[in-house]
Amino acid sequence: PRHGDTAPPELQEKTLVLVKPDAVQRRLVGNVIQRFERRGFKLVAMKLLQADQGLLDKHYQQLRQKPFYPALLAYMTSGPLVAMVWEGYNVVRSTRAMVGDTDSATAAAGTIRGDFSMHVSRNVVHASDSVETAQREIGFWFQQDELVAWESGDQDYTYGP
Ligand code: UDP
Repeated sequence: PRHGDTAPPELQEKTLVLVKPDAVQRRLVGNVIQRFERRGFKLVAMKLLQADQGLLDKHYQQLRQKPFYPALLAYMTSGPLVAMVWEGYNVVRSTRAMVGDTDSATAAAGTIRGDFSMHVSRNVVHASDSVETAQREIGFWFQQDELVAWESGDQDYTYGP
């Protein structure tokens, strides 16, 4: 593998995934990472951090007026979380499908939420819901130089020539 990503632009779509504090506490980080790796997506950034309110207010700006927001904030600041950027063809849509419904109770079996969680308030992961949202969210959680462009040695086997 060489440094620098020469994959065509459609293979360089990126999304933000957060492994939320409940999943870190429950030792599910590896399970979540494994699903994205196994699918064939490429990990381009990752860190463990304790999020603060300022960051979450930006990340969840659309939800700040919701009645559940104070509880969401308490949950998301209750312990460390893992922030990751995954790259690949159609990664935003595919990742949402792999994550499952917001409400864990109705998330399909086989999805991350459907397999690992019981309740909407402790639903294990976040994944960006559109390409535009992903670009904005990645900017909240990562500096530009924290994204690592690298050449995937198995690209032809993953996508075809
Ligand atoms: N959430 C919650 N209660 C609700 C709805 C949402 O605690 O009734 C939390 C939950 O952690 C969810 C997050 O708020 O993942 C963001 O909600 P959104 O509707 O954006 O769902 P997502 O995109 O995460 O599936």
